[in-house]
Amino acid sequence: MEWSDCERLTEALVFAAARHRDQRRKDADRSPYINHPIALLQVLLVEARIQGPPEVLIAALLHDILEDTATRPEELAERFGAEIRDLVLELTDDKSLPKAERKRLQIERAAGLSPKARLIALADKISNLRDLATSPPPDWDLERRRAYFDWAAAAVEPLRGTHAELERLFDLALSRRP
Ligand code: NDP
Ligand code: ZN
Repeated sequence: MEWSDCERLTEALVFAAARHRDQRRKDADRSPYINHPIALLQVLLVEARIQGPPEVLIAALLHDILEDTATRPEELAERFGAEIRDLVLELTDDKSLPKAERKRLQIERAAGLSPKARLIALADKISNLRDLATSPPPDWDLERRRAYFDWAAAAVEPLRGTHAELERLFDLALSRRP
């Protein structure tokens, strides 16, 4: 990555930390939400050694910002460019739809994701399965945790053939299904 890409990556981290500042994960400790976008960066850059294109790493840090904060797509475009806005939009669920419908649509739309969005979607599922195995929401019973693993497996199936190491990491996380 160029120096200017490192700058943009750092700006995305600072921006995401600010926007997610009042949000917590669903684990018993209510961890800071920003740990999750950081986990995606770790999976992509450190574990899977994906060093570019930079948009993948930048959009990974911003992937939940439209879904979970008051940030608007136009603001993302102004700060980070139209490509980042479009990548994050690809990864954003329509929260006006019922939960079950959103889950179904993610599976249906997975095959149509762009190559860059597929990498981020894989890292997202890896991070969430790991969290569910090690620090699940305390009010989720065994059945619900298992149902999430099964849904994640179905959502990743159309993404296979994207990146061997990411898929290996996903399968490893999936193998910890409770
Ligand atoms: P949710 O979508 O409500 O919650 C899971 C999401 O929460 C993750 O995708 C992740 O999204 C985020 N998250 C935050 N903290 C954690 C954490 N510690 N561990 C893992 N994820 C975290 O879950 P679902 O509604 O999908 O429930 C899972 C399954 O259980 C479903 O398949 C459903 O069929 C079944 N079920 C659902 C019920 C319901 O009321 N919804 C009731 C009973 C069963 P992000 O990456 O965006 O942060
Ligand atoms: Zn996420």
